[in-house]
Amino acid sequence: EGEAAEKPSLLGRVLGRKASTAGPRRVLDDEMLEQLEELLISTDMGVETSLRVTAAMAEGRFGQKLSSVEIKQLMAAEIARIMEPVATPMPLYQKTPQVILVVGVNGSGKTTTIGKLASQFRAAGKSVVIAAGDTFRAAAVEQLQVWGDRAGVPVLTAPEGSDPASLAFDAMTKAQESGADLLMIDTAGRLQNRADLMEELTKIVRVIQKKDPSAPHNTLLVLDATTGQNALNQVDAFQKLADVSGLVMTKLDGTARGGVLVSLADKYGLPIHAIGVGEQIDDLAPFDPKDFATALMG
Ligand code: GDP
Repeated sequence: EGEAAEKPSLLGRVLGRKASTAGPRRVLDDEMLEQLEELLISTDMGVETSLRVTAAMAEGRFGQKLSSVEIKQLMAAEIARIMEPVATPMPLYQKTPQVILVVGVNGSGKTTTIGKLASQFRAAGKSVVIAAGDTFRAAAVEQLQVWGDRAGVPVLTAPEGSDPASLAFDAMTKAQESGADLLMIDTAGRLQNRADLMEELTKIVRVIQKKDPSAPHNTLLVLDATTGQNALNQVDAFQKLADVSGLVMTKLDGTARGGVLVSLADKYGLPIHAIGVGEQIDDLAPFDPKDFATALMG
């Protein structure tokens, strides 16, 4: 007890005191607004969204004296208001197998997220099949098999360098024949070679649609929160390559850049289905806008 001083909250840094104590009130003026904007930008919320949040917070309150607790609560409420419409769990359909195409750059946490999701689906009593569609990365395939074992879910693989679409087709056949509820298809994340990736993803979609014209039912984009505003570029890029239906934001544990989620919600309005909060199988949580906003302003 009493070793390190309590870390001041983000807001505390601006207001020069811990936000958890009421403290003296400060007038909400231009200078204060500018400081609050900078605070939000420092969480990677982006300039536009940061301005929107502070403007909404200040509306009707300019010139008033507010305590740091009040400011913290008002900002968190504004952020939660932006996030609420996008906080939706992954939709589960009656149609089986429900096909979930998983896209994202290498290192974003695709493999880990597929493993965590498989485990959650299994716990919900669903039968799951995984297709290791990143056939060019042997390590990725191995890693996916490890996660499949952990989750107790079969992982279908193909020889290194073989056509991912043909694996997807076989996986679709197996999932249909075995009456699986869900099929998750991992894909390559070589964004540096967009034309190839586009062709690959288009072909995967085309072949699975031969077996079920309504597939894929979800196209999940996995984003790494620690990349900050770069995550927005990834959304831009993948929306051009695939029909992204929802997001999973990984590595929200221990990053100060979580503000990028607000920016994403504000700019794209794509559903955030879940957040990654660690490297273990249970470290995938539903996205809770109020908790998130409070933590961000903590
Ligand atoms: P992929 O290349 O997109 O398939 O990425 P991986 O699933 O292999 O993940 C890349 C690294 O990020 C691994 O070391 C994972 O353990 C780590 N990782 C994935 N999700 C999370 C998360 O939510 N939190 C943390 N701290 N690490 C994560």
